[in-house]
Amino acid sequence: MNIEQLARPEIVAMKPYSSARKEAPGQGVLLNANEAPWPLLDPDSGLNRYPDPQPERLRRRLARLYQTPEENLLITRGSDEGIDLLTRVFCRAGEDAILQAPPAFGMYRIAAQAQGAAVVSVPRDADDFALDEQGMLDAFEDDRRIKLVFLTSPSNPTGDVLTDGFLETMLERARGRALVVVDEAYAEFTDHPSTVPLVERCEHLVVLRTLSKAWAAAGLRCGSVIAQPPVIALLQRVIAPYPLPSPVVSLAMAMLEDATLQKQADLLHRVRGNKTRLLEMLQDRSFVHRVFPGEANFVLIRVSDAAGLLAYCAQRGVVLRGFPSEPALRDCIRISVGSDEDLDHLAEALDAWEARA
Ligand code: PMP
Repeated sequence: MNIEQLARPEIVAMKPYSSARKEAPGQGVLLNANEAPWPLLDPDSGLNRYPDPQPERLRRRLARLYQTPEENLLITRGSDEGIDLLTRVFCRAGEDAILQAPPAFGMYRIAAQAQGAAVVSVPRDADDFALDEQGMLDAFEDDRRIKLVFLTSPSNPTGDVLTDGFLETMLERARGRALVVVDEAYAEFTDHPSTVPLVERCEHLVVLRTLSKAWAAAGLRCGSVIAQPPVIALLQRVIAPYPLPSPVVSLAMAMLEDATLQKQADLLHRVRGNKTRLLEMLQDRSFVHRVFPGEANFVLIRVSDAAGLLAYCAQRGVVLRGFPSEPALRDCIRISVGSDEDLDHLAEALDAWEARA
């Protein structure tokens, strides 16, 4: 099917903005973009010039990293922007909907609501947070408004990975009707295979990757949307003309040099080790009722007095994530895998809380 038939008609009909840098990619006497003739900082910085909207060298490098052809990849300001672009392109306000399985990453709902799209939620099991696979398929079957199905693997905050059978079935059902988005923000932390290779045979599959987590670069704001070229072309119609600041592109390129690969492997190794330590630290605590280890760089726990424990840790300078406004997570706390020192501080706080209780 033509994927444009799933997009908002006004996006398909719209004549996209054509930026100066896109029309004349940067050589010669540049008098076409109302830029200053020289930068105020380092004269070689090129900061006076608008950046390349999708720098080829970074696109090529990220495509190699994620093992996908370059034309399948759009660089965005983190996965957050990918989620927003997808929602804006595929959901008509007041008519279309997204499907999600809460507890889920909060930006799916925010992007949908900001766009005026409905949010169809199939809650996970209240006790063990298992994904209600049949419930998702039934909800999708019943609600013809759904244009985007948001799946997360490993998921946040529950840490579980998608089962292959479910993904295959969802992809089959959604063909010709909706896009399936697999958010793989934490993919590097698990041995579970990535969904990226499926993109080649599924025109309605979108995979989101990011440098924010396993590449230790949340500050860069550098994410990738991976999908077949027709989806990428639609997203390019609404993305900001210059989404990627030139210093970010230079830093991302430096970070992705082969020399950094070993550092990244070391980081993953250390995070794995510290996660084991964190899990041990949580064992046999009187106030911890359940631990969801998950497959990412965090752990979710169910505790007796989540608000009390959060406040107590915060007082001691240890900041954990609570979810006071989400009923399903009211007694849960998410703990990121930190450094050795971070875990020392956490252990002290947990010991003190336990002694007090
Ligand atoms: N998806 C998930 C599942 C996340 O947990 C997060 C960040 N917490 C994001 C996407 C956003 O990532 P980015 O920093 O790339 O915008």
